[in-house]
This record gives sequence, C-alpha cells and structure tokens, in this order.
Amino acid sequence: MNGTKHARTEPPVEPCAECTSRPTRRELLRRALRRQCPHCGGGPIFRTFYTMHDACSGCGMNFDQSDGNTWFFMYFTSGGVIGVCFLILFFWRPQPANLPWVSALMISGALATLLLTLPFRKSLGMALDYLIEPPRDGDQC
Ligand SMILES: [Zn+2]
Repeated sequence: MNGTKHARTEPPVEPCAECTSRPTRRELLRRALRRQCPHCGGGPIFRTFYTMHDACSGCGMNFDQSDGNTWFFMYFTSGGVIGVCFLILFFWRPQPANLPWVSALMISGALATLLLTLPFRKSLGMALDYLIEPPRDGDQC
C-alpha cells in the first residue's frame, strides 16, 4: 500500500446554499413543470423547446449526469401514452369502414402528445431522479 490511493488532490468543496437545503417535493414538481433546474430552480433546462443545456446556468449542475434514469421515465410515460390510445380504440370500437381514418387520427394524436409533452416529461424525470438520488455535496457546486 503506497498511501496515495486515498490522497485528496483537490481542496474540499464548500456546499452551496442549494446543497445545504434540499427542495421539497412540491418545489421539485413546480420546477419540473416550469422546466427549470431541479437543484436550484434558477436555470432553464432547455435552450429551445427540445434542445437541452449541458449544465445549469445558475448552479452548474450537469444535466447529463442522470440521463439513464431519466430515459427510463421517458420510455415508461411514452408507453403510457400509447397504452391510452389503445384503450381508446378498444372501448370506442369504431366501425370497420372508419378504421383507417380513426387509426390515422389516433397515431397522429399519440405522436403529437408525445412530442408536445417531451420537455415536460424529461423535466419530470430529472426531478424524480433528483428526488430519488440527490447529488452529493460538491458534485456540481
Ligand atoms: Zn441549477
């Protein structure tokens, strides 16, 4: 054992104000619906409607660090939207003659819903990931 394995090479990082007081669940939900950083609520997550910033402009939190967990939430909610469309078709029971235009309408509605809710679902996924696994002190400050 050479003793350098656990040696600190960086000075200790003082936690910022956001790190010492975690947001409540209600605050995280509010920040997610506004598409703001789950950590500080100051910086926007998205540059445009679909393009994300790499990091928060307010606190520097890396928005890509929890991408795997967020994508699971995205797949799960996308499956929910498709499932609702199948349930509507199942209970509506359109006439066979109307099936082509009803199918086109349902597919268009599902795609529009998926695309229009994508930034909000991504923000909610990030907030949920932040709630489950908050960053440790010094991770992004
Ligand atoms: Zn932030």
